[in-house]
Amino acid sequence: MSNDLVVVVSGPGGVGKGTVVAELMAEHGDELWLSRSWTTRDQRPGEADDAYVFTTREAFEARREAGGFLEWAEFLGNYYGTPVPDADIGRVQILEIDVQGARQVIAQIPDALLIFLSAPSADEQEARLRRRGDPPEKVQQRLDKAREEAEAGRELGAVEIVNIDISDTVEEMWRVIDTARHG
Ligand code: 5GP
Repeated sequence: MSNDLVVVVSGPGGVGKGTVVAELMAEHGDELWLSRSWTTRDQRPGEADDAYVFTTREAFEARREAGGFLEWAEFLGNYYGTPVPDADIGRVQILEIDVQGARQVIAQIPDALLIFLSAPSADEQEARLRRRGDPPEKVQQRLDKAREEAEAGRELGAVEIVNIDISDTVEEMWRVIDTARHG
């Protein structure tokens, strides 16, 4: 592992994490490096091919047995994992992962910065999940999961940001990251 600052961005599905991280990368990509996770879930309609490495359970398990993940978790029946970075990257590393993964990263890298994004309200979160085309039965599961995740995030000492306005959220995240890397 490198000595670069590791920033874990966590938060429930439908909070706008993906959009916020994409915007953060667009604005500060020269100073940040975004980790690409592996997942065994199906690609969503309209989701970018490079949003994840979409893989099978067998291939995921083989990589996991070989020690190829910094952390991994099973989330609503699918595996998700962060590949071990190749070498010193020389940029702030951004990991967009769930709180189970965040806990594993903090255990290995106590200096990692944890940012937890939350939705302005449960209604807003539900609307976002439906809009992005999650299957209806998954929406309720994700809302239940969101409550557990918020509690876990607080226990881990995360910096919590309520995502009301994307550009305000990105600005606040960058301020927190910039402070942490110079701190
Ligand atoms: P989604 O299916 O909505 O893309 O992701 C479901 C959850 O898995 C989200 O909370 C997302 O942040 C998390 N996730 C994505 N990649 C990883 C990963 O590599 N490790 C872990 N632990 N969680 C991940």
